[in-house]
Amino acid sequence: STAMLAVEDLTLAVRRDEDVKPILASVSLSCAKGEIVGLVGESGSGKSMTLRTAVGLTPAKADISGRVQVSGLDVLGASGKELSKLRSRTASMIFQDPRAHINPFQRIGTFLCEGLRIHQRMSKEEAARKATGLLDEVGLPDPARHMRQYPHELSGGMLQRVMIAAALASEPELLLADEPTTALDVTTQAEIVSILLRLRRDRGLSIVLVTHDLDLAVSACDRIHVMYAGSIVEVASAAELARAPQHPYTAALFAARPSPDRTELKAVSGRPLGLYEVEGGCAFAPRCPKAIDLCQETAPETRLVDGHQVACHLASEPPVQPVGPLTKGE
Ligand code: SF4
Ligand code: MG
Repeated sequence: STAMLAVEDLTLAVRRDEDVKPILASVSLSCAKGEIVGLVGESGSGKSMTLRTAVGLTPAKADISGRVQVSGLDVLGASGKELSKLRSRTASMIFQDPRAHINPFQRIGTFLCEGLRIHQRMSKEEAARKATGLLDEVGLPDPARHMRQYPHELSGGMLQRVMIAAALASEPELLLADEPTTALDVTTQAEIVSILLRLRRDRGLSIVLVTHDLDLAVSACDRIHVMYAGSIVEVASAAELARAPQHPYTAALFAARPSPDRTELKAVSGRPLGLYEVEGGCAFAPRCPKAIDLCQETAPETRLVDGHQVACHLASEPPVQPVGPLTKGE
């Protein structure tokens, strides 16, 4: 298969002194070449940890099992050298707050050219030409001028485009985007989504989009993984998920969607749990309007219902192995 990213049965717990805090439970997630995949859930559900683990950025004291492959590299078994090559060439990341990842005293051009000169050994002139081209590619209006500007002279949305340009500098195959639009207004969010769609079309880029915003994920993604308390609870195509969510948590996320202008924030009622707080049974049971007695005692297995993978006792079909491009032993 042509999986750019394949996470299979990933379980992760962080150790501190005598304590073991489980964070991820048997997470499987995949992104094919040229696919835009969403990883959606509330904060604390393990989305960022999954994304970081995909590029080998795991906590120092962690118990990890499962498989992670990026473009054929076995990430959990890779050497430090292989991992730094993975992060500087194959896979790039962008984050929620661009200002936290850029030196405020450095011009945009200097920031972009630094990476090009170090990693791609370009001359000053080559790097400047390439950086200007990247700013143009992410739709900034006046690339030559922006090259000379400082971060505070650009809006949050413009700066996020600069970060996308920086992420593209190494010609990656995979872009990992962790809440890239969360700090932005609705219009700018839509612009960032259209840039991601264009990069997939023009570059064949594979993208994993982490967000708590299910509507945004539906607008950007081919396929969506819904995460709750360290587990994937539902996977389906974006269209299918929006048409007929099968898991009560997915349905609750859609029901909690904000008003059309997104000014009024709503939330799923009840407090999200971390995996470490779950005491057996279905992690969503304390908040689930459909919970039955079985849900308190037994964790649901993953079943295939109308093309959705869904981990819920109410899904009547028999359990299946999670569907992914990798099979065990491959
Ligand atoms: Fe709700 Fe039970 Fe399904 Fe969990 S298994 S989502 S508690 S119905
Ligand atoms: Mg996060």
